[in-house]
Amino acid sequence: MTNDNSVDFENSELQDVVTQYEKKIYDLKQLLEISRSLCSTLEFSTLIESILYTCMGQFRVLGAGVFVLDALDSDTFLLGSNYSGMDIDPGVSYLIPSKNPLIHFLETGTGLFTLPELSELVPYGTDITVISSLRPSLIVPLKQHNHLNGILVLGERITLSEDSGYSDYEKEQIEDIASLASIAINNSALLERSSTDMMTHLKLKYFFYNVLTDKLDAAMANDGHVSVMMFDIDFFKRFNDTYGHACGDYVLQTVAKMIKSSVRSQDLAARYGGEEFTVLLNDTDRDDAVTVADRIRSKIEQYDFNYENQHVKVTISIGVATYDSNLNPVTMPKLLVEQADQALYVSKRNGRNRVTFADPKLISEVKVDD
Ligand code: GH3
Ligand code: MG
Ligand code: MG
Repeated sequence: MTNDNSVDFENSELQDVVTQYEKKIYDLKQLLEISRSLCSTLEFSTLIESILYTCMGQFRVLGAGVFVLDALDSDTFLLGSNYSGMDIDPGVSYLIPSKNPLIHFLETGTGLFTLPELSELVPYGTDITVISSLRPSLIVPLKQHNHLNGILVLGERITLSEDSGYSDYEKEQIEDIASLASIAINNSALLERSSTDMMTHLKLKYFFYNVLTDKLDAAMANDGHVSVMMFDIDFFKRFNDTYGHACGDYVLQTVAKMIKSSVRSQDLAARYGGEEFTVLLNDTDRDDAVTVADRIRSKIEQYDFNYENQHVKVTISIGVATYDSNLNPVTMPKLLVEQADQALYVSKRNGRNRVTFADPKLISEVKVDD
């Protein structure tokens, strides 16, 4: 027979177990939600933001940052703008070269580390100043298939108790989130690389069409505008013949940079083909698109291209087309690009170094001429 006290004791013990399981179920549901959110985000900066906010919320830290391999130069782990709430010195570039022994240590080791643990465990003489200057409460390697693709650093903890350390259970949770984050970073980096032209760092044609399809749908639904600019460098064959292919490549890279820096982050610049570029101008009507196009044309005309002390001049021709529910109600992205291309053809025919807008009358004339 059991007395009343032991029944109470057993009940409260049972209640503890139930509470523990309830917490575990809650945490698992949270993890599932985090997994769904991270794995459905392919756009890199949105993904990083999502990882940082998840960590800050889950582990009550004032800041978080993630060093990731620079997509276009995979020799460096870069903090860049991938941090939130951390005390960053704007004059310092927070980067860790892949050849730093710290990288090998994090790649081959297991688990996660506090700063004192890391300082003690890395090989003697390893430079960890970049990490330590951030005064992290925890350093978490992000790995996939034993390959390091990021370093997550958690900042100061918000805690009421004296002990601001992480429990073993919390460390396990962090490791779970880190492994999800690592998979998501890998997927996003793959998409980034496969959709980017390595020479100009602009997006490729198919990616451009994907985005244009979405923007055109939105413009049709909201009775808005979307414009497409098509660029082609003038007499580029002759240019290559005169100055050499390497100088031609330098011009292509410089023109690409100038185009990209002349448009907003909501727009999209792409390398359409050899020396042809397209730009999608989101929510932009005909007049604004022509203004932007002419600003870029004029910038390039005036720019002093300097290749190995050779000063050369370059001009470009541009065609512009705009979706407008009344004036140009095209429904296919390809058609809008074709119109911009036809306007570009008119710019070439009329003497180059100019911008032409694809109004329907002009387009029908081009078709007759063809
Ligand atoms: P137009 O004014 O009519 O455009 O004359 P163009 O000579 O520029 O004619 P076109 O646009 O047909 O010429 C394309 C040239 O661009 C041909 C090719 O040599 C050059 N080109 C294409 N891709 C590259 C590249 O990656 N690097 C270099 N250097 N040249 C390229
Ligand atoms: Mg061309
Ligand atoms: Mg050309």
